[in-house]
Amino acid sequence: MLELKNMTVRYGKHLAVDAVGFGLTKGEVVVVLGANGAGKSSMLKAIAGMIPVADGSVTLDGDLLTGVPAHQVTNRGIALVPEGRGVVGRMTVEENLRLGATPSRARASEDETIAQVFDIFPRLAERRRQFVHTMSGGEQQMVAVGRAMMSKPDFLLLDEPSLGLAPIVVGDLFKALARVRETGVGLLIVEQNVKISLRHADRGYLLEAGRITGSGTSEELMNDAAVRHAFLGGD
Ligand code: ATP
Repeated sequence: MLELKNMTVRYGKHLAVDAVGFGLTKGEVVVVLGANGAGKSSMLKAIAGMIPVADGSVTLDGDLLTGVPAHQVTNRGIALVPEGRGVVGRMTVEENLRLGATPSRARASEDETIAQVFDIFPRLAERRRQFVHTMSGGEQQMVAVGRAMMSKPDFLLLDEPSLGLAPIVVGDLFKALARVRETGVGLLIVEQNVKISLRHADRGYLLEAGRITGSGTSEELMNDAAVRHAFLGGD
C-alpha cells in the first residue's frame, strides 16, 4: 500500500500541498481532480522523491519513502509519468522504453516487460524503430507510460496524461491504462479531465489549493455538486 499522511510541500513560504492524506493499494485506480495550480504535480513529484516533503510522510507497505532520493523511489517500485511526458525525441521508441529498465528490479526481466508493453500498446511495437519526436502527442504519451512500465512498478503515478490529446486518443490511452491496472499495478492519476478519469477510476479526491476538499467513489464524485461546478460547468 502507498500511503500519504499529512503530506505537505512548500516552495519557500508558499504552501503547495497542505497536509494531504490518503492511500491506495496495488491494482487500484485512484484519481485526484484539481484545477491548474491546485498542487497536483507537486504532490506526485514529492511522492516520487523529486522534491522534498516538508511535513508528514509517504510510506510504501509501511516503509518510509520520505527523504529517499528519486532513483531509489523508482527502485522501490514507484514510477512517475511526468506532465509533458519527458520522452527523448531524438531516440527511438525502443531506446526510450529500454531507458526505463534501469532499476535493478527491472533489468532481469527487461525483454519480458517490453513484450508486455508492446502487447498493451501495439502501435509502439509497429513503430519501435521510429524517432519519438516524429510521433503524435498520443503516441508519445504511450511511450511515456511504456517507459514507466519498464521499471516494473507496483504503483504508477500519472500527471495529467490526457493533457493536449484529442478525445478519441484519450479514450484509447485510458483503455490501455485499464490493462496496465489488470497486471496488478496501482494507478494514481491526477487530472482535470473529470469524465474520462472517473470512468476508469475506483475512487477519487478533490484537491483545491493544496487541500483535499472532497472524496468518494467515482460515481459519487461524478454527481458531486462541487466537482460538477468546478469542472463540468454545472451548478
Ligand atoms: P498545473 O496543472 O497547472 O500543473 P498543479 O495542480 O499541478 O497545476 P502545481 O504545479 O503542483 O499545481 O503547483 C501548485 C502551486 O505551487 C502553484 O501555486 C504553483 O505556482 C506553485 N509552484 C509549483 N512549482 C513551484 C516552484 N518550483 N516554485 C515555486 N512555486 C511553485
